[in-house]
Amino acid sequence: MDRVDVKCLSRDALTRWMVDELGDDAGRAVRVFKRLWQDGVTDFAQMDGVARATRERLAERAVLPTLEADVVLDSADGTRKFLWKLHDGYRIESVLIPDGHRLTLCMSSQVGCAMACHFCVTGDMGLKRHLTASEIADQALQVQRTLPEGVRITNLVFMGMGEPLHNLKNLIPALEILLDDHGLNFSHRKVTVSTVGLVPKMAELAAALPVNLAISVNATTEEQRLQIMPITRKHSLAELMDAARAFPLPPGKRITFEYVMFAGFNDTLDDAARLFELLRGIPAKVNLIPYNENEHYRDLKCPDAATVKAFQHYFVSRGLGCSVRTTRGLDISAACGQLGRARMGGVLAAQL
Ligand code: SF4
Repeated sequence: MDRVDVKCLSRDALTRWMVDELGDDAGRAVRVFKRLWQDGVTDFAQMDGVARATRERLAERAVLPTLEADVVLDSADGTRKFLWKLHDGYRIESVLIPDGHRLTLCMSSQVGCAMACHFCVTGDMGLKRHLTASEIADQALQVQRTLPEGVRITNLVFMGMGEPLHNLKNLIPALEILLDDHGLNFSHRKVTVSTVGLVPKMAELAAALPVNLAISVNATTEEQRLQIMPITRKHSLAELMDAARAFPLPPGKRITFEYVMFAGFNDTLDDAARLFELLRGIPAKVNLIPYNENEHYRDLKCPDAATVKAFQHYFVSRGLGCSVRTTRGLDISAACGQLGRARMGGVLAAQL
C-alpha cells in the first residue's frame, strides 16, 4: 500500500484522513498538523503531545518528507538562494530577498516549466514534473527554520521555477497550509501568485483562496506577446485582459501586472500607452522588470535607466502605481528569469 505524504494534506484533508483511515479524532489531527508545520518535526516519533498509538499508526501508513538544501548561496546584496535536492534527484530553487522591513521568499511550483517563455532559463528546460503540495509548502518552512529567532519571512511570491497555475491541484493545498493559522500562518494579503495567463485557472484560484494575483504581461500587442510568450497562442492577450477584468478582487486590492522590459522590443512610450489602455478598468499596478542580461539569451538586452524611468513616468503621471523592480542576487544567479541555471537533476545537469 502506498504511504500517504501527510505534508501534502491541508488541515481539513489531514483530519478527514486520520478520522476515516486511522480511526483517530479531529483534535488529534489538529495536533499532528501543528507539529508538522509549526514545530517542523521530521519524524513521527518527535510528535510530542500526540498519543503513542497515533504516532505508530502514522509511521505505518504515512511519510513525512523534508526538503534538503543541497546548496545555499549568499549574494553580496543580502539575497540568499536555496537549491533543494528532491527525492528523485531533481533540484529546485527558492530565493529569500530582504528589502527594508520585508523579507520575501520567492518560491517554485514545478521542476522546469512548460510555458517556454523565450527569455526564461527555466522555460528552456521544459516541464520535468509538478511539485507536490508538500514540496511547495516545505520551501517556506525549511527557509523559516534557517532564520534567527524573531526573524520571520513576511511575504511569499510564486515567481520562482514553474507556472503555479499549471500546478493548481497541488498549489491550492500548499496555499491552504501556508495560510492556515495552525500551519505557517501567512496572511493572504502577503501571498502573491504570478501567472503568464492560464485564463481558466485564474478563476479557479480566485474561487479557492483570496491571495494576490500577479500577471506577467510583458507585451502590448498580440503579435509582440506571441514572439516571447507561446501561451498567447492558447490564450490571447485580449482574453487575458478580459479574465483580469473579471477577476474578483476585494476592495482595495489590485492586480500586479509584471512587465519585463527588453531594449528595442517593448520599451517605447507607444508600448507604455498601449499597456495603459489595456489596463483601463482593471484595479492595477505595474511592476517594471528591466531584463537581467545573461549569457543564455545574448540577443536580449536591458533598456537604459532613462528609458525605464520614462516608461515608469508615463504611468505615475497618469495616477497608476508603477514600480521598478531592482535586480537582486545577480551574483548568485537568483535574479528573475535566471533560476535553474544551477545544477538540475538527470539529463539537465549535462545540458547546463
Ligand atoms: S517566465 Fe515563468 S512561466 Fe515563463 S517559462 Fe519562465 S518559469 Fe515558466
